[in-house]
Amino acid sequence: MEGALTARDKIGVQDFVLLDAYTSEAAFLDNLRKRFRENLIYTYIGTLLVSVNPYQELGIYTENQMGLYQGVNFFELPPHVYAIADNAYRLMCSELSNHFILISGESGAGKTEASKKILQYFAVTCPMTESLQIARDRLLLSNPVLEAFGNAKTLRNDNSSRFGKYMDIQFDFKGIPVGGHIISYLIEKSRVVHQNQGERNFHIFYQLLEGGEEELLACLGLERDARLYKYLSQGHCAKELSINDKSDWETVSSAFSVIDFTDEDLENLFGIIASVICPLTTDLSIYARDAMAKAVYGRTFTWLVNKINSSLVNKDFTRKTVIGLLDIYGFEVFDKNGFEQFCINYCNEKLQQLLIERTLQAEQAEYEAEGIEWEPIQYFNNKVICDLVEERHKGIISILDEECIRPGPATDLSFLEKLEEKVGKHAHFQTYVRCASLSPLSLCFYCELDEGRQSGSSVFHSVIHTPVAALHSFEVGTQFKNSLSSLLEILVSKEPSYIRCIKPNDGKEPSKFDYCLIKHQIKYLGLMEHLRVRRAGFRDSRWPGWSNARACFLSLPSPSRYKSLCPDTWPQWHGPPAEGVERLIKYIGYKPEEYKLGRTKIFIRFPRTLFATEDAFEFS
Ligand code: ADP
Ligand code: MG
Repeated sequence: MEGALTARDKIGVQDFVLLDAYTSEAAFLDNLRKRFRENLIYTYIGTLLVSVNPYQELGIYTENQMGLYQGVNFFELPPHVYAIADNAYRLMCSELSNHFILISGESGAGKTEASKKILQYFAVTCPMTESLQIARDRLLLSNPVLEAFGNAKTLRNDNSSRFGKYMDIQFDFKGIPVGGHIISYLIEKSRVVHQNQGERNFHIFYQLLEGGEEELLACLGLERDARLYKYLSQGHCAKELSINDKSDWETVSSAFSVIDFTDEDLENLFGIIASVICPLTTDLSIYARDAMAKAVYGRTFTWLVNKINSSLVNKDFTRKTVIGLLDIYGFEVFDKNGFEQFCINYCNEKLQQLLIERTLQAEQAEYEAEGIEWEPIQYFNNKVICDLVEERHKGIISILDEECIRPGPATDLSFLEKLEEKVGKHAHFQTYVRCASLSPLSLCFYCELDEGRQSGSSVFHSVIHTPVAALHSFEVGTQFKNSLSSLLEILVSKEPSYIRCIKPNDGKEPSKFDYCLIKHQIKYLGLMEHLRVRRAGFRDSRWPGWSNARACFLSLPSPSRYKSLCPDTWPQWHGPPAEGVERLIKYIGYKPEEYKLGRTKIFIRFPRTLFATEDAFEFS
């Protein structure tokens, strides 16, 4: 009908790969906006899921919805976080392979919610035995406990995770979740002693004061009013309407019993928590008091994670496959940034590098191996930036370590001099000292590729304002570098899935689509670049039927059924497989732009082509 809006006009396309103007950022944004307006918060780029935080309950996480996605082929249903979860699960079960799902995006974009939805999906849809229900419950309940101790209200997010989290969910050979393991990264200890205006300390402090029983508080020597405590009230928002500390306390305290915390554990735990919010003793300097509180909290958090892990471990199952969920803060650039931001941004660079290696490079390499003609995509390989930070003896972390352990006082200036001497000429590095005297050193390095080259995104931007002298602890940078490299080792051996979360506005408002803010995120999440590679290429070869070995297409399980569609290949093709596939394809009527034949595989560009073949099969 002329003039009528087509579905495509109204709700956009569910896979950016299907966009006509796929190189245009405006078209990308337009598609995202159309879908967001219709409350369609999920869109694919091939197999990567883009998610926009709706800031409202959409009713799309019901058990009914979960049922829909169970065991269904990836592209047959609208995009959903359940599709990502289900796909990883099915591949794990059929191939006995390990997987991870990397969820990234900036604070408030919806990472933690996405990881919780995935965990719930497994809890509800996976097979279960009575004896293993406890394992499932512990997996689920570890969340509220960790959130109480590791999350806080910030300006960006009322429930902001102040630590990075990697969680392995372990499955037995029947696909039953049997246990798990959690690794935490970089708990933001500084929050214990300092909160900015409008922000709070970790939830647990307020939960304890609001919800804790009278006797417990009396025993700990605590008053109920959080405003009496300096560590809890600097942000002037101890009471926050959107947060119900009292009912959260109830959830957390009942979770404790399921995760096997004894009364003694809890006594110790809350004794420590209470000692951190304790009154000032005059013989301790403020600096020593703060340092002590931070150290105590950091250790308590580590203890908590270990304790949870010992309740999640399941020794009865030796042969396990895992799906790892990585929920980690995205790039952070504030007006004033500390060593923590430096570490966070470095971590994101490393993860970006992993994505580049695993998706872009692997895909290009496959086309080359298969002899498929295509134009190589120029992409920014951020390895240069990672090297700048981590190279032995030459990188920023090494230089920082050297400064920290050098005899004599380390000063910002001596650190700066070293940096300039060793990396000052690096293309991605800039240093400057803001004020000569007391003000801390500012160090700024970033990479911003000009759009003209069509190759890059702003992938790195970090400014350190932490005085070197404050980084007393021995080789603090190297410790983080090492924990990051063990994380990458964990990830490299697994099959990846990616979820990129986008925050639609800074006001936590439903339905508000802030173009500028979203455009920025699309850029540094590298989404346009990812789309270009996907579009230039074909489908991810992992999907059965996309790019199977030619022989598969004709004679082996699943897609072998297509051979019945063509009289030449049915019931048996006796010639060379390559020729048989060509006959079959010509007969079905694939257009030249829809497929390419490689040395051992057939590459099909769009899922709809394969669906049409499926339909032809159904109705033949
Ligand atoms: P992040 O972990 O990326 O910092 P969160 O996952 O904590 O962000 O999300 C911030 C807030 O946004 C949540 O507390 C919730 O209110 C809202 N939110 C996020 N994802 C969704 C979703 N899928 N549906 C509804 N609300 C959401
Ligand atoms: Mg979070």
